[in-house]
Amino acid sequence: MAHYFEIIGNSKVAVFKAPIDNEIVSKTIASFKDSKQNDEPFLVVNLTTLVNKFQQWQKELPRVKPFYAVKCNDDPIILKTLAELGTGFDCASKGEINKVLAELQLTKAENIVYANPCKTRGFISHAEKMGVNRMTFDNVEELVKVKKLHSSPQMILRIAVSDPTAQCQLGIKFGCDPEIDGPKLLQKAAELCVPVIGVSFHVGSGCNEPETFKTAIKYARDLFDFGIKLGHSMTLLDIGGGYPGVDTEEISLGKVR
Ligand SMILES: *Cc1c(COP(=O)(O)O)cnc(C)c1O
Repeated sequence: MAHYFEIIGNSKVAVFKAPIDNEIVSKTIASFKDSKQNDEPFLVVNLTTLVNKFQQWQKELPRVKPFYAVKCNDDPIILKTLAELGTGFDCASKGEINKVLAELQLTKAENIVYANPCKTRGFISHAEKMGVNRMTFDNVEELVKVKKLHSSPQMILRIAVSDPTAQCQLGIKFGCDPEIDGPKLLQKAAELCVPVIGVSFHVGSGCNEPETFKTAIKYARDLFDFGIKLGHSMTLLDIGGGYPGVDTEEISLGKVR
């Protein structure tokens, strides 16, 4: 088995004829490395898990196209596997856009959401140059910058709806108030002739409360209706992250769905 691996075969990926136990693989590599007096740390990723999770997602939420958040793990093989499966990418910076589009050439610019609601001028110009049009925003200043620096923006309004019990709160960092600021920002965008194509939210990483998604979607519905009245073509709902990666008794993808 060991000759399949990177340290010997120069390939980072090994394909096995039958399903194989992660622990057995790890132990085999460890003892092989040990026999070579190689004590550098290593990481084993079972790519089948990635494929299975993608398929589970498609089964539970067939109308949702996954956009993988590059910040979670930007290993090129993971990114390539996901691109092959047909996911888009959620990028938070110029560096992440460059990695996905220029360096690895995984997908087209239209499969990227630039989900950073407060970008520098340089980052907006860069997005324009790369053909990335979909960008989130949660403040007026962003609209003004985008108006000046991007010729074909497709803006997504980010609202703050948080599960107070989530492991990592994102509402304190990103997103506008959905009831007061949301409608004002849609109005402002219409005045500036900056098209808004939808709404995004992120309930917080490690969300434990499926009801939070419902609340967020309800706010988004109201903002869709308001935006459509203003002439925005509202067609995209970005349901963020915070979905359980592993099913437990408390929470599972099935329960959130
Ligand atoms: C991090 C992030 C995600 C993914 O969140 P998880 O909690 O890791 O699922 C989705 N959308 C945006 C905008 C993010 O920043």
